[in-house]
Amino acid sequence: MRILYISSEVVPFSKTGGLADVAGALPVALKNLGHDVRIATPRYGCINGEKYRLRRIIDEIQVYFQHDSFIATVETTNLPGTDIPVYFIANDFYFGRKELYTENGKDYPDNSQRFAFFCMATLWMLRILEWKPDMIHCNDWQTALIPAYLKYHPYVKSDDFYNGIKALYTIHNLAYQGSFDRDTLNKIGLGWEVFTIDGLEFYGDINLMKAGIMFSDEITTVSETYAREIQTPEYGCGLDGVLRFRRDHLTGIINGIDYGIWDPAKDTLIPSKFSKGKMAGKAKCKAHLQEKNNLPQDKDVPIIGMISRMADQKGFDLIAKIAEEIFDLDIQFVLLGTGEPIYHEMFKKIGEKYPAKAGINITFNNQLAHEIEAGADMFLMPSRYKPCGLNQLYSLRYGTVPIVRKTGGLADSIMDATPGRIAGRFHRSHCSGGEPGCARINQRFVRPGD
Ligand code: ADP
Repeated sequence: MRILYISSEVVPFSKTGGLADVAGALPVALKNLGHDVRIATPRYGCINGEKYRLRRIIDEIQVYFQHDSFIATVETTNLPGTDIPVYFIANDFYFGRKELYTENGKDYPDNSQRFAFFCMATLWMLRILEWKPDMIHCNDWQTALIPAYLKYHPYVKSDDFYNGIKALYTIHNLAYQGSFDRDTLNKIGLGWEVFTIDGLEFYGDINLMKAGIMFSDEITTVSETYAREIQTPEYGCGLDGVLRFRRDHLTGIINGIDYGIWDPAKDTLIPSKFSKGKMAGKAKCKAHLQEKNNLPQDKDVPIIGMISRMADQKGFDLIAKIAEEIFDLDIQFVLLGTGEPIYHEMFKKIGEKYPAKAGINITFNNQLAHEIEAGADMFLMPSRYKPCGLNQLYSLRYGTVPIVRKTGGLADSIMDATPGRIAGRFHRSHCSGGEPGCARINQRFVRPGD
């Protein structure tokens, strides 16, 4: 099958969160299954063109929106270590900026136009390359306009080239929906006929996530539990009714991780490699992490690690409530994260109060993320909701015990490690969380001495 994977961030070129990791890994897995996979992504200013040897393949694509027209160029390279082509849609005005979506904590005001431009230019690019995919795999609101354009854009729907291309839409996080003022509609190339309850109208505004859900052929999300949860008012972020409406086309599939990048036996970003059965390197990684965070070098004090976007969803307020209790324990805590200023302040204060116990790193640093996974003893993820979560999966690979809240992908991937389960008497697939049998099974297995 020919698959175009379209994503607003792709490792190693650009990243704000888990979507980038998946966008750099899933196409490789699909390619290994024999599919012809290619990737499209924006050419952000922060991407190092020289390092990745980007070369221009299309000089000019005119993208029209009502009275405005914008020019896209296309650059390309292969996804490192593969022969998968990555197409970068470039336009300095839209993408030559410092960040991907926000600056100083605020969304760029023209995000709707930026990503509409990206989607439209990607479709025109396929025509120029004469490469017609069987399916376009779209991800999150930034690429949700693709299914809308395939069905409703006058030029696209009347052009045979696009006929029959299927759209798959994956929800990585339902909370970020791409909601914009209704007047945005004519700036993104769509007419009022899609401004309906069956279209992308949402409480008087437009909602691009809803466009992805309503107009794509199939929808996936990143864990089975999250697929169930988002159909409920509690987790549905207002779109639960829409998701229930499309439930026959909604499937939950848990993310995988890329062992080419996240494997302590091969990881070039950690001070000492290790693997199951050869764990000495982990102690060195721990000592290194303590040193780097100015913490006492004590091998017997457990380190709790945390790497996260600092957003409400991640359960930081839950940590705040029990911070005193946590730091009364004989532990060390290493945090890496950026996001909402309120949490920056909160953790800076914790760092000042407990300098011998807390290493607080308010920054985005991929190397440190690997060092924390490798050097910590435990990994904390108290998320209020979690579509999939990758760090708990990396933790499993790095021998770092994940401590998680039972929700979404965390519920699907982590179980209480009782001796019985460790001995293999119980298999995770018996308990996918939430169903009635689950509590009984938990009761049976989570008991003292089991
Ligand atoms: P989300 O996509 O909701 O942010 P995930 O757990 O799915 O959460 O993925 C987070 C990814 O982003 C992981 O690869 C994690 O290591 C990385 N990450 C998050 N914050 C930082 C940071 N401050 N520095 C480096 N990597 C980070």
